[in-house]
Amino acid sequence: MESKYALPEGKLFIGGKWVEPLSGATFNTINPATEEVITAIALAGEQDVASAVEHARKAFEEGAWSKLSATDRGKLLTKIADAIMANVDEFAYLETIDIGKPISESRNIDVPFVAELFYYYAGWANKYHGETIPVRGNYLNYTLREPLGVVGTITPWNFPLLLATWKIAPALAMGNAVVHKPSEQSPLTSLKLAQICEEVGLPEGAFNVVTGNGRVTGNAMIRHPGIDKIAFTGGTSTGIYVMQEAAKTLKKVTLELGGKSPNIVLEDADLDSAVKGAISGIFYNKGEVCAAGSRLFVQENVHDAFLEKLVQRGKKTVVGDPLDPKTRFGPLCNRDQLEKVLSYISTGKEEGAKVVLGGGRASVGSGKGYFVEPTIFDDVTNQMKIAREEIFGPVLSAIRFKDLDDLIAQANDTIYGLAAGVWTRDVKKAHYVAKKLKAGTIWINTYNMYDPASPFGGYKQSGFGRELGMHALESYTQVKSVWVDMNL
Ligand code: NAD
Repeated sequence: MESKYALPEGKLFIGGKWVEPLSGATFNTINPATEEVITAIALAGEQDVASAVEHARKAFEEGAWSKLSATDRGKLLTKIADAIMANVDEFAYLETIDIGKPISESRNIDVPFVAELFYYYAGWANKYHGETIPVRGNYLNYTLREPLGVVGTITPWNFPLLLATWKIAPALAMGNAVVHKPSEQSPLTSLKLAQICEEVGLPEGAFNVVTGNGRVTGNAMIRHPGIDKIAFTGGTSTGIYVMQEAAKTLKKVTLELGGKSPNIVLEDADLDSAVKGAISGIFYNKGEVCAAGSRLFVQENVHDAFLEKLVQRGKKTVVGDPLDPKTRFGPLCNRDQLEKVLSYISTGKEEGAKVVLGGGRASVGSGKGYFVEPTIFDDVTNQMKIAREEIFGPVLSAIRFKDLDDLIAQANDTIYGLAAGVWTRDVKKAHYVAKKLKAGTIWINTYNMYDPASPFGGYKQSGFGRELGMHALESYTQVKSVWVDMNL
């Protein structure tokens, strides 16, 4: 470990204990800003996953976890949230060295949001329950809202702890036991969360962490018959595979997948606000955001003025050391991601789009690290590859449109449907466009807004199931209908 913040090296967290992987395998996690190895991480094999599922099952069926009241589960979640905030600097540091997220974001946004989620779902633990139903005849009919059992959570690297918590917090609040696999690119904060769960006395087996890659660890999870549900966030092609494999044991599945979200500037918009929203919509977290506003639709009569302002503002996005509190734009998460983004930039140039900002690698400090320039393409058409495929990096494609009909047709002409932004001063147009767009979240005169209480999820190939808010609770519970004969 390259810092004073030590985690058990090369271990898994199973059944409330730190254990060596039965597989005997480990892999290294790399700091993308320096390309240095941070630490060795256990690579959980099939037997390790089986052991985690066994402990989770025991916790769920008969362990101390299964005996807790809903209120006491909520209290434990509150303790987890308190402990996260007590360790906020350490969590933020781990996230930043693992994936290059600027420390200002890790420290001030991601980790506090993680704590908020635990507080929020702590409150739900004893409030999401069954009902009595006025059925025909002299019968009492009521429902029990019960947990599913063992939930497997598989998550990506772009908001490692945050997206894991979107699943873990509601799953635990509803009384499930969790086997969690963070991305192999970003395991550190999930291991730290396990330490916190140990510290606050979460009953053993309620939360387990199996680190590893998709091919070995992820596959073992989606195939294990003892997992009742897979809550997955990741790429669309991986999501399709997860669903196919999970079908073999009829697991429940929720999928939060990729996006190619339109961020739309109508001619009557406040252009300065829209510029800010377009920049943060694509460059926040280096564009490694599922809901990034990567297709910027600008109405043709304000196009030139808008692009000029956009480029001026874009130039202020300085690439830097992610551990510097002033940095707002760090390195991409890993070498593959760097190569993928650079390859899309080359494709955009070949397709005839015009680079108006960036367009290449960036150099910071020693010259090491996976840094790329914030990049804007103008003169993009919605048919170009850079407008159709998810780049998952800081590359914006500006596309013109004539009128609302043209806009709606182009904006919805994508396999994805995760989110969209609309910038306008006209309230009627704002709601009209919001209704017409096929996407799970619409932001009007803002972008990238999230709250624990507001649902998030995809239309079309951006997935299904809703996370956050009370909507998430549905997918971590099942309903039992009980009939009682009341005839004397
Ligand atoms: P990914 O699909 O490569 O990996 C996601 C997770 O799945 C990782 O933990 C990985 O190890 C695991 N995995 C990979 N192959 C697997 C397999 N065969 N079986 C089981 N598990 C497997 O995605 P990524 O590169 O980590 O993340 C980027 C993608 O995630 C982007 O497409 C992005 O849009 C999407 N994403 C979506 C949301 C959302 O809320 N909709 C949020 C963030 C990221």
